[in-house]
Amino acid sequence: MTTKKLAEGAEIILKETYDFNCPSCNKLMYAKPSLFMKTGMANLGGGICINKECNIHFSLAIDENNERMIAELINKKEA
Ligand SMILES: [Zn+2]
Repeated sequence: MTTKKLAEGAEIILKETYDFNCPSCNKLMYAKPSLFMKTGMANLGGGICINKECNIHFSLAIDENNERMIAELINKKEA
């Protein structure tokens, strides 16, 4: 096992996948650590909701306990 230090966090052992809920529709999804997380450059990732009726963009960060990821809406309203 290798330990990785997240930019603003403690040294952790990255898990293979993390679960998180969509910040808009609350759908449960899974994500792998991003390149930023793997290299320790930043606790930063992102994605798009797999729920076609939701389809929002969100940013992802591993929570401080390394248990799951926290998704946050990216403010991208065009209306
Ligand atoms: Zn959603």
